[in-house]
Amino acid sequence: MNIHEYQAKELLAKFGIGVPTGYPALTVEEAVEAAGKLPGPLYVVKAQIHAGGRGKGKFKELPADAKGGVRLAKSVEDVRKDAGEMLGNTLVTVQTGDAGKQVNRLYVTDGVDIAKEYYLSMVVDRATSRVAMIVSTEGGMDIEEVAHSTPEKIHTITIDPATGFMPHHGRSVAYALKLDGALAKEAQKLSAKLYEAFTALDCDMLEINPLVETEDGKLLVLDTKMSFDSNALYRHPDVEAMRDETEEDPMEVEAGKYDLAYIKLDGDIGCMVNGAGLAMATMDIIKLNGSFPANFLDVGGGATTEKVTAAFKIILSDPAVKGILVNIFGGIMRCDTIAEGIVIAAKEVELDVPLVVRLEGTNVQQGKDILANSGLPIIPADDLGDAARKIVAEVKEAA
Ligand code: ADP
Ligand code: MG
Repeated sequence: MNIHEYQAKELLAKFGIGVPTGYPALTVEEAVEAAGKLPGPLYVVKAQIHAGGRGKGKFKELPADAKGGVRLAKSVEDVRKDAGEMLGNTLVTVQTGDAGKQVNRLYVTDGVDIAKEYYLSMVVDRATSRVAMIVSTEGGMDIEEVAHSTPEKIHTITIDPATGFMPHHGRSVAYALKLDGALAKEAQKLSAKLYEAFTALDCDMLEINPLVETEDGKLLVLDTKMSFDSNALYRHPDVEAMRDETEEDPMEVEAGKYDLAYIKLDGDIGCMVNGAGLAMATMDIIKLNGSFPANFLDVGGGATTEKVTAAFKIILSDPAVKGILVNIFGGIMRCDTIAEGIVIAAKEVELDVPLVVRLEGTNVQQGKDILANSGLPIIPADDLGDAARKIVAEVKEAA
């Protein structure tokens, strides 16, 4: 799960990490009010969307030479003007895709006198099963380019969970950032606090870009992105409360309510499968037969009528879906129960695309009989290959 920059900064501040003062705003008036609480004379108005690259982003509704999603404002009146231009408009950045994202929240924050911009991020590195801290002296808006053309300027420090963050890790960070004296000490303290925040909050990614050295010799987190391990969210109700569903795919949000694992994809064959491994095999075999899956969907072990109905509705709400393949293995949940669920659900959603069903497992014959006698145009399949061939052919024929 991702959160907004201002929320991430609130969390980091609780760990004693330095961030510029700022306030979120949902309206122009709130933005003006926020600016009024700041000392000035320099303010920064920042679009809050779950995507980076805002500084260089462009608003769809504004002229091409208009300012982007991170704007320096020299007066409260400029804050008012910028907030008015940004709220409700669509910001397109390298990370949003062409559709862009509507800006519904702003963050109005202190303008900082920047001496230098650094990069610092943390991820759970699956290759080493450890938290890695990635740092570079080349922070700012071109870090992707740095990683591409001068990868030697990016340093990775891995932390053994058995020891936790040690003083030598902090010294490595300071050394990689080419800091000395008081700033090096500050970098050591900051990196230790970041590690503490990262592990205490069950983050899976934390990126600070830029981390800045101010003209008066302090380190401040100027921009941050944070994401969390969804499986650990139950331990952090305060973090879960920061969820902004308007930033997420609406179908994925709906699926979450029914405990369905759903990921939207680009193809035209909707899949409903129980078990993640079977779901992946189903997607593979659709591709093998020359088509593409419209989604990944795992209805889980207990494919109840309620879940199957919700899954059908979610699949069908995707206008790209031209056919559905249901591939269910009846283990603990028997095939006849599943077949009843499919029939009830298919009737309820008024299915208007071809539906191929492959059932296997306990009580498979009873299940097949229920489908055959349902009066619905369900196309039965004997095995996975047969099912994939049939749905691909049906969809191609209808096209
Ligand atoms: P993004 O990474 O989405 O483009 P950032 O928050 O990193 O957004 O802002 C882009 C750039 O704007 C930063 O690299 C920095 O130079 C400048 N900037 C951001 N916040 C401030 C601030 N509070 N004071 C001064 N400059 C800022
Ligand atoms: Mg940034």
